[in-house]
Amino acid sequence: PQPLLKVEHLKKTFPVESSGWFKKNEVKAVHDVSFDIYEGETFGIVGESGCGKSTTGRTLLRLTEPSGGKVIYQDQDIFSLKEKNFRPIREDLQMIFQDPLASLDPKKRIGYSLEEPFIIQKKGTKKERKEMVLKMLERVGFSEEHYHRFPHEFSGGQRQRIGIARALVLNPKFIVCDEPVSALDVSIQSQILNLLKELQQDFGLSYLFIGHDLSVVRYIANRIGVMYLGEMVEQAPTEELFENPLHPYTKSLLSAVPVPNPKVKRERIVLKGEVPSPLDMPKGCVFHTRCPLAMDICKEIKPPTYKVKENHRVQCHLYEHSEVSEADGA
Ligand code: SF4
Ligand code: MG
Repeated sequence: PQPLLKVEHLKKTFPVESSGWFKKNEVKAVHDVSFDIYEGETFGIVGESGCGKSTTGRTLLRLTEPSGGKVIYQDQDIFSLKEKNFRPIREDLQMIFQDPLASLDPKKRIGYSLEEPFIIQKKGTKKERKEMVLKMLERVGFSEEHYHRFPHEFSGGQRQRIGIARALVLNPKFIVCDEPVSALDVSIQSQILNLLKELQQDFGLSYLFIGHDLSVVRYIANRIGVMYLGEMVEQAPTEELFENPLHPYTKSLLSAVPVPNPKVKRERIVLKGEVPSPLDMPKGCVFHTRCPLAMDICKEIKPPTYKVKENHRVQCHLYEHSEVSEADGA
C-alpha cells in the first residue's frame, strides 16, 4: 500500500542565545528523521522527554517552521506550499495535545471552541456548523447541554474528549496525538485510548501517536519508531519491536518494561551517564556515550540506517552486514 504521508529527512533546529556575541549556537531538536504513515494505521514514537518527539509531530504538521526535509501528502511536498495553498490541506492534518486546554479557550463556551475550526476555514453556515459540532460532541459522549458549558466545568478526561472532538470536526485524515493520555489518571487513560481506536475505525483515520509510556504506545500503535537525541534510531512493527529489539538503546528502554510472562527473564539494562545536551551532540553515533556495546567506529562515524528486515530498520553499526535503507539516501 501507498503511504498516506511520507516524512523524509525531517530537520528542525532552534537557534539559541549564547554568551559570546561571536558564538552562534543551535539546538538540533530533530535531525534527519524519516518514516512513512500508512492509511488507517497508528505509528507510535517513543523516547525520553527532550528527544524530539513532540517537535517531530509539530514540525511535520507545519505548526512550527521546518529547517529541512520533506513531508509528502497527496503527492505534494507540504513544506513547499504557500500558506494559501496549504490551508485546504491543513483541514486534513490535525493535532491532539497533551493538555487539551491548549486548544480550548477557557473564556469561551465549548460550542464556540468546536466551531472555531470551521470559522477559520470559512466553512458552513452558522446552522450547519452547530449541527456538525453537536454530532461530534455526541460521538465523544456528550449531549447538547454540554455545548453551552465552559472548559473548567469538565474533568481532565472529559476535556481531552472535547480536544479530540475539536481535532475531528473538520473530518481530517491524519492526527498527531502528542501524549494525549500522559496527564490523565490511569483509569481514564484506557477510556481515551479506546475512544481513539473507535474513532480511527469509524472515520478511517491515521495517527502519529507520541508517548513515553511504552505500554500505552504498545497498546495503540501498529508500528513504533524509537527516538534518541533527535534521531530515529529504530523502527519496526510493534510486536516485532517488543520481541526482537535491535538497537542497544531500544533494548535498554524495553528492559525496564515488566514482562507479563514471569517465565521470560529479561535482564534490566541500566544505562550509564546522562543524555548529552543537544547543544553538544556527540560525534559519530549519538548514543555512543552511553552505549554498552560502543566500538571505536561509533565515536567517529554516524551509522546509516540499516534495513534488517523488510519492516525493521535500525541505525547502528552492529548491523552493518544488512542492506542500507533507501530512506537513508544510500
Ligand atoms: Fe552502540 Fe555503536 Fe550501535 Fe551506536 S552504533 S548504538 S554506539 S553499537
Ligand atoms: Mg513532548
